[in-house]
Amino acid sequence: MIDLSGRTALVTGASRGIGRAIALELAGAGAAVAVNYRERADAAEEVVAAIEDDGGRAMALQADVTDLEAVQAMVKAAAGEMDGLDILVNNAGIIADDYLTFMKPERWREIIAVSLDGAFHCTKAGVRQMMRGRWGRIVNISSDAGLMGDVARAHYAAAKAGLLGLTKSTARELAGQGITCNAVAPGIIETELIADMDEGRAEAMRELIPLGRFGAPEEVAPLVAWLCSDAAGYVTGQVISVDGGLRM
Ligand code: NAD
Repeated sequence: MIDLSGRTALVTGASRGIGRAIALELAGAGAAVAVNYRERADAAEEVVAAIEDDGGRAMALQADVTDLEAVQAMVKAAAGEMDGLDILVNNAGIIADDYLTFMKPERWREIIAVSLDGAFHCTKAGVRQMMRGRWGRIVNISSDAGLMGDVARAHYAAAKAGLLGLTKSTARELAGQGITCNAVAPGIIETELIADMDEGRAEAMRELIPLGRFGAPEEVAPLVAWLCSDAAGYVTGQVISVDGGLRM
């Protein structure tokens, strides 16, 4: 049993998909959880209600992770309300399909801004809180795309690969403060993010996955919770895939 009681956590992009599953998992393990959302307050409140119905503690916090000042205000509010911040899960991300020759620079910037700048902003603000308690856990949700590359997704793959550099640098820089930082690299997980994938491509992808199917958000969340626990205190700077064997 993973025990996070007494810990406080912030999960970005937690109103749906993998972030939602992570928020529920951390709360189920006993952490108080700040559920970040960008636009969908109703969905974030639904996650908070689900946690509270289960006897847990949660709050919804709006912020666009691309906006450093908004992130700083969010982290301050989370730490103020929950009495500190121990755990940060940088999950917010967006995807798009653009072949390189047609890729607009604005779209490149937009994808990098959410996955990479956003994680930097949250880490910069979050570690200040963690340093106070000389204990912290950061988990960055990268992607197999960051390790393998992906067709029509150079922006996404570059952002997710950049996240690995951020992960390892954070791990090295903050190890002495009792703060670990790891990355989880999902393969293909059934969420709204990939809902538009055409059936031909989906079938071709399934054939490449040794376990023969896509994953569920609930199959990513337990690993994140474990990385956030005391049991994972000697694990830092790592990248762990949850992908049905796709990348082995
Ligand atoms: P999703 O689209 O369901 O969730 C992404 C969340 O991020 C949404 O709630 C969205 O509102 C939020 N978000 C987007 N931009 C934001 C911003 N600027 N500020 C705050 N929040 C913002 O997708 P998901 O599949 O649950 O993806 C979660 C993470 O997992 C993403 O980082 C994604 O890249 C990564 N991932 C997903 C898959 C997959 O197959 N689903 C595979 C590998 C990695």
